[in-house]
Amino acid sequence: MAAEKKAVFIIFGGSGDLAHRKLYPALYGLYKAGILKEHFAVIGTARRAWSDNYYRGTVVTSLLDIDDDQEKMQAFAKHFFYQSHDVTDSDHYIALKKLASKLDDQFETDQNRIYYMAIAPRFFGTVAEHINSEGLKTSGYNRLVIEKPFGRSYDSACELNGSLTKTFSENEIYRMDHYLGKQMVQQLTRIRLKNKTFEKSLNNKYVSNVQVTLSESLGVEDRGGYYETAGVLRDMIQNHIMQIIGAVAMDEPAKLDSESIHEVKREVFASLKDLTPDEVDKNFVRGQYGEDITGKQKAYRDEDNVDANSDIETFVAGKVEFDSERWGGVPFYVRSGKRMPAKSSRIDIVYNDAAEEIGIRPNTTVTILIEPEDGSYILVNGIDYLESNQDIIKFPEKEDYFDHAREAYESLMIDILDGNQIHFTMWDELQNAWKYVDIIRQKWDSETPDFPNYESNTMGPDAASELLEKDGNSWVWAD
Ligand code: NAD
Repeated sequence: MAAEKKAVFIIFGGSGDLAHRKLYPALYGLYKAGILKEHFAVIGTARRAWSDNYYRGTVVTSLLDIDDDQEKMQAFAKHFFYQSHDVTDSDHYIALKKLASKLDDQFETDQNRIYYMAIAPRFFGTVAEHINSEGLKTSGYNRLVIEKPFGRSYDSACELNGSLTKTFSENEIYRMDHYLGKQMVQQLTRIRLKNKTFEKSLNNKYVSNVQVTLSESLGVEDRGGYYETAGVLRDMIQNHIMQIIGAVAMDEPAKLDSESIHEVKREVFASLKDLTPDEVDKNFVRGQYGEDITGKQKAYRDEDNVDANSDIETFVAGKVEFDSERWGGVPFYVRSGKRMPAKSSRIDIVYNDAAEEIGIRPNTTVTILIEPEDGSYILVNGIDYLESNQDIIKFPEKEDYFDHAREAYESLMIDILDGNQIHFTMWDELQNAWKYVDIIRQKWDSETPDFPNYESNTMGPDAASELLEKDGNSWVWAD
């Protein structure tokens, strides 16, 4: 069993959706595993005036889908405390400091603090600055966890980072990208290190193209207001897609530790081939969903809290390239959209004929399925790798390996408690991703798209297929 960890968590936005849907179940998972035991406390802060008891009731309710052990859930909830808080009010930080310090003594947490921003992004900087000015940092460790989105552009990301780094150093900042918590994404590096043929195959000599798809079957549901400020380019491409590309394209790290991984990731993002505004139309396609064929599913523009003439994209496909010896000339096709036929997160690696010289048969595609199966499948030409009769990938060694897979937030929470930044986004990686995405955003914002341009429950606009056909390629997952 893992060693017990000690900390006081301060969750800004403790009454919110993220806290209840993801954070409390994740902390409970750690409690059940004995990673959190006696020496931890959680302070939830939000604007409303809640009592500790009421707050604890909401925490227990958030666990009912995953457990029915009332006694355990009640014992867990006793570690939770509520502090009514307005992010701009200095007095509230002083009250928070007092409570955290009292809980430090009560639960003997070694003054370790995890500050979790489960609050609107516009408050991230303000909260961090108050943590500094009101002297909340302690002599234990002090770790700041930031949810997405990290900025809306390169400039705003720089501004946000500037305000965070007045209080926290880079090695105290944990930028969440929950895709990096998913089992298969985490295992990708291990798979590469363990399978020599696979690792040897990952370059422009043997790979024809790489495809990364993060599709959703749902529309925006009740998040229209947020989506109108984001769009897929900011919501999915800039962070999740870029991080997944990075995990495939990076060089083999010297070791499986945070420093070595971020070193090779930094290099790969620095080698992104510059995109000029003129290339945006050639290499990127945007779309917005209309109704489905039956008219039962609404068009994006008819969704709640969405402008009837909205130009926000709900689909993006594009071609990303690297200016490197290893990957020069290999297109990385990316695609993400809402109201596609299925929810799927996958990486398809398509080999060329030269790969035969390292034992990979002609027309081979290796597919790494990230979701919805959460990591249980690697396919070679569409069938389970174990049955594929090709020796490219041997993993996992144990068939039941993924049965013990942790939920993404749980696994990332353990990393935070361990002080391990391996599965978090570092500032230099993020800067390069924003610089790249800004070129596309600025070009698109200067033109009016012809939306809607794809029917709900389809694979996006025709231009998304044409993008690959121009290069003599096609999407592996084509429904
Ligand atoms: P939410 O609106 O459900 O919760 C926001 C919380 O902030 C509430 O607890 C609210 O009381 C508190 N709050 C608002 N104004 C405040 C103020 N002035 N002072 C103090 N507290 C205040 O939002 P959410 O969906 O939980 O999202 C929280 C953060 O997580 C956002 O940054 C969001 O982008 C990010 N995020 C959310 C999800 C998700 O699935 N919900 C996924 C990824 C990232």
